[in-house]
Amino acid sequence: MPDASIASPAARVEQVLSALRKTLPQQVSTVTSVREEHSHGEAMDAAQLPEAVVFAQSTDDVSRVLSLCHVHHVPVVAFGAGTSVEGHVTPPEHAISLDLSRMTDIVQFNPEDLDCRVQAGLTRQELNSRIRDSGLFFPVDPGGEATLGGMCATRASGTAAVKYGTMKENVLGLTVVLASGEIIRTGGRVRKSSTGYDLTSLFIGSEGTLGVITEAQLRLYGLPEAVAAAVCQFETVDEAVRTAVEVIQYGIPVARVELADEVQMAACIAYSHLDELRPLPTLFFEFTGGPAAVREQVEATESLARENGGLGFDWADTPEERTRLWKARHNAYWAARAIEPTALVISTDCIVPISRLAELIDGVRHDIRESGLRAAMVGHVGDGNFHTLILTENTSEGRKRLLDLDRKIVARALALDGSCSGEHGVGLGKLEFLETEHGAGALNVMRTIKKAMDPLNILNPGKLIPQEKGTCP
Ligand SMILES: Cc1cc2nc3c(=O)[nH]c(=O)nc-3n(C[C@H](O)[C@H](O)[C@H](O)COP(=O)(O)OP(=O)(O)OC[C@H]3O[C@@H](n4cnc5c(N)ncnc54)[C@H](O)[C@@H]3O)c2cc1C
Repeated sequence: MPDASIASPAARVEQVLSALRKTLPQQVSTVTSVREEHSHGEAMDAAQLPEAVVFAQSTDDVSRVLSLCHVHHVPVVAFGAGTSVEGHVTPPEHAISLDLSRMTDIVQFNPEDLDCRVQAGLTRQELNSRIRDSGLFFPVDPGGEATLGGMCATRASGTAAVKYGTMKENVLGLTVVLASGEIIRTGGRVRKSSTGYDLTSLFIGSEGTLGVITEAQLRLYGLPEAVAAAVCQFETVDEAVRTAVEVIQYGIPVARVELADEVQMAACIAYSHLDELRPLPTLFFEFTGGPAAVREQVEATESLARENGGLGFDWADTPEERTRLWKARHNAYWAARAIEPTALVISTDCIVPISRLAELIDGVRHDIRESGLRAAMVGHVGDGNFHTLILTENTSEGRKRLLDLDRKIVARALALDGSCSGEHGVGLGKLEFLETEHGAGALNVMRTIKKAMDPLNILNPGKLIPQEKGTCP
């Protein structure tokens, strides 16, 4: 084994690349535009070019890359679709970006057991389009066109989590390549098992810091017999939030309930030309089940909305009408960004227990007013989770004001027994909040796990776990 400690970082990368050019000649790229695409994710991430991008086509390819990087001490950042928003995929210096987006097979499809096994680079949209004729679907639906491997790695969720849960509840097992290049399988196909440590859960949400996921065994669900959508506008955010909270507390089994505040709605109306809506706080609902059950859910929700001051309740059950009703919500992120296309933007992602949601939103609106910044709120309020898209001028002063507001919002959520991120994850952007959220003891357990599984710190170094005070990165 070569002594990696005496070669320079650039020389070590070159050793890895020259070996890979022999074994995977068509899969290594050092073209600048390809490196640029892999230098950052979405949102306000700092960019750093990887030295090269390697496109894996199999678990064995991933194993080959990691074995070489391990021997030569070269950092590796797994890359799915690059839609993460907290700097997750920004490489450190002298690193390789390992792109899994060519691994798009459905390895197994077991409709009789409602599960399938997929390669990590498949997107959830593509999975659902390939299995649509079977009457089954995979329900976790983050807004970006993300890969299922990336979704596992960030423990993603989306608008349907209120009914179906997140990646944590919907992944039964994984194939993972460890830092040394060793390939392991975790979990299996069964719905429950009480044997051993739950390694699947350990990798779900590990952001590429413990291993590279190459396959995932996923739960599937039957497409609902009936679906209805509804939109209800309110004079105040408080009325809308009260309605959403009561819908959950009364146990109405909504499939989706999303809030957009008046700033977000004004942006959506302008962006998607939605003349029938007003720039007022708005709830978007989806109901699924048998036709009678859907009808009951619609009626119960409408009555709660009316009691809380809802201004009408527009609902529909045909696909075209449902799409029309949800159009504003679907384009919310891009609509908010279009408010000021050159602005710096971050999207907060805090979450609290549902009973604390009204208090949090009220406090956040106060903080936004006090900051003088423009911010739009949109979110998965059925889970107690929402995003504040904060916009500011692209200057260092603007950046500081934006981060100050972000910190205030997170502090409020943590004080209400919440978390700084319901779904986006930690990456680089949320590192500073982890100790307050988890405590020093839990953080040290995370560091111990990381050291045991990746002693050379080559897997996405610097992400997810904040550096110990007084140590070098
Ligand atoms: C418009 C928009 C809307 C969004 N809405 C949501 C939302 O509703 N809910 C939500 O949860 N997120 C949302 N996101 C964030 C993003 O889509 C998710 O974080 C998603 O899970 C990232 O998947 P990806 O394939 O793009 O992963 P990437 O961004 O490529 O990678 C994310 C992290 O996972 C690691 N990784 C990627 N693939 C693997 C692998 N195979 N094995 C190990 N590690 C890996 C990377 O190293 C990185 O740390 C949104 C983003 C955008 C731009």
